[in-house]
Amino acid sequence: MQVALIGIPWDENSSFMRGAAEAPPLIRAAFASESANLWSETGIDFGATPIFDAGDVEPVSGTAMIGRIAESIESLLDQNYRPIALGGDHAITYPVVKAFAKKYPRLSLLHFDAHPDIYDEFQGNRYSHACPFARIMEEELVERLVQVGIRTATGHQRKQIERFGVEVVEMKDFSDDLRLEFDTPVYISFDIDGLDPAFAPGVSHREPGGLSTRQALNVIHRLKADVVGADVVEFNPRMDSTGVTAMACAKLLKEIAAKML
Ligand code: MN
Ligand code: MN
Repeated sequence: MQVALIGIPWDENSSFMRGAAEAPPLIRAAFASESANLWSETGIDFGATPIFDAGDVEPVSGTAMIGRIAESIESLLDQNYRPIALGGDHAITYPVVKAFAKKYPRLSLLHFDAHPDIYDEFQGNRYSHACPFARIMEEELVERLVQVGIRTATGHQRKQIERFGVEVVEMKDFSDDLRLEFDTPVYISFDIDGLDPAFAPGVSHREPGGLSTRQALNVIHRLKADVVGADVVEFNPRMDSTGVTAMACAKLLKEIAAKML
């Protein structure tokens, strides 16, 4: 079993600010940076067990990109890799999960984010980065959707959450001993703005009152589940003057990848 990285440099469905498409090479560089080492906190050495790098999905404009992303992920799944997609904005998660759902009919989704991203449509766009979880739930691609870190739910989104039976751990109710358990394969979608902007300022939507990097890592380490895939999305390098957000992405990538092995 091997983890595969795939970059998806696509941000044309971002509603407020572009830049997330520039993230994949910077996350790779932070992962490989000699300022750190390749060992996970849980004792996996990615120097000895390297992650396969499948390169980037070549972006095309419009909805054709949705099919192209799904095909790229399917191809990695066919080769029995456990893929981790590097966004791009959160719009990539719908086609990625669509591909996973074909292979794993009983998939569940663990979603870290400041935002529920479950608008029926946003600014007239049903594929907006504010909508992927509405598309995923409408098509019944997953058995459970559990959201952690949420602190921006609107009235409409609360209705959507109820309609689709989403399990939400709102940030205002977050407890440090949160332990999540799944009896189905799990896909982790990590929007880096789920972290507090103090820890990850390099995002398009800075929403105070979020998770510390440590709190997010603890939820991942304590998770009882077979993690079969993941994404790290919404890192916007244009907002990351110190490079700390790139390192936070690389750290999460490393600990999630270790969880998959
Ligand atoms: Mn998001
Ligand atoms: Mn977000």
